[in-house]
Amino acid sequence: MSSKERIYNFSAGPSMLPLPVLEQAAAEMTNYRGSGMSVMEMSHRSKVYIDIFDETKADLKRLLKVPDSHEILFMQGGASLQFSAVPLNLIGKTGKADYAITGNFSDLAMKEAEKYGEINIPCTSADKNHTYIPSQDDIKLSSDASYFHYCANNTIYGTEWKYVPETGGIPLVCDMSSNILTKPVDVAKYGVIYAGAQKNMAPAGVAVVIVDKALAGKELQYTPKLLSYQVMIDSDSMYNTPACYTIYVLGLVLKWLDTQGGVEGMEKIKTEKAKILYDVLDDSKMFSGCATKEARSDMNVTFRSTSEELDDEFVKEATIAGFDNLKGHRVAGGMRASIYNAMPMEGVLALADFMRDFEAKKG
Ligand code: PMP
Repeated sequence: MSSKERIYNFSAGPSMLPLPVLEQAAAEMTNYRGSGMSVMEMSHRSKVYIDIFDETKADLKRLLKVPDSHEILFMQGGASLQFSAVPLNLIGKTGKADYAITGNFSDLAMKEAEKYGEINIPCTSADKNHTYIPSQDDIKLSSDASYFHYCANNTIYGTEWKYVPETGGIPLVCDMSSNILTKPVDVAKYGVIYAGAQKNMAPAGVAVVIVDKALAGKELQYTPKLLSYQVMIDSDSMYNTPACYTIYVLGLVLKWLDTQGGVEGMEKIKTEKAKILYDVLDDSKMFSGCATKEARSDMNVTFRSTSEELDDEFVKEATIAGFDNLKGHRVAGGMRASIYNAMPMEGVLALADFMRDFEAKKG
């Protein structure tokens, strides 16, 4: 299939990768820059691979302006294993933690943490089916939490925190799986940031974890070695074989990000892309957004039509027209257009036209 035959893939993850990245990976597939082998075949201890690894880490540090107080780790098990790693490493301080519940994944993270300590829910949007984000005033912090956990972008419900919660010195832990690298982040404010790779960074297989080194080394005694932030810091994420190829593709994505103006450039582009779709929803009599306006995610645009039958028809016709994976998550229903960094502007404009045409035809 030529690149011209690629479709617009609105999958929530794994999702689109930038075409130049796929093309470069393809060109380097059998012989990486004269090494005579694929990156897939390299020893993770070889110089050629260590160079790839170090450059990827350095690029991530530069792009996200990660301060020296924090270490970047590449761990396995996706974001979901961080649901366990976070309490295992951090909850020992007081035996307690706060979990803001704004969707499916923060709920899963909380349920995992409950195995290791006492959990307080400082705020939740469950009362309105996670269509909004609680305000700072809604947050009832506990004074003795070891950390405060929240999910910056709710992939399923299509809501996004537009502010960084104030926690009065309690370390902030954030799941940024679906919006990392889409805007600048003040990393110094966070104890731990983690994100699965398969939305904005790379193929599945790696979780990027950015940890304040001062918080590491205090894990519960039975923490598996591979989940210990201190072990990963000491071994530079190479206690065992890392997800070598995924990290290489992440490196290519970061170089591509530079061509887009870095995270600052990406912020402009993603804001523009999301506005195009939200404008369609706001002008429409057939489609409506699922999230409240103030909480709308720039990554996952969730919406529905006037009936489930019409939703099904829309998804079916969109798929035939080359817009794939627009069906909403099974727990939320409706539709969802995931427009991560690699979704080109043309894809968003084409979907906006398709939605307007669909309404004109069926409305
Ligand atoms: N957190 C968020 C916000 C997610 O969107 C996802 C996956 N869709 C996860 C966690 C779980 O990620 P993984 O599949 O990498 O474990």
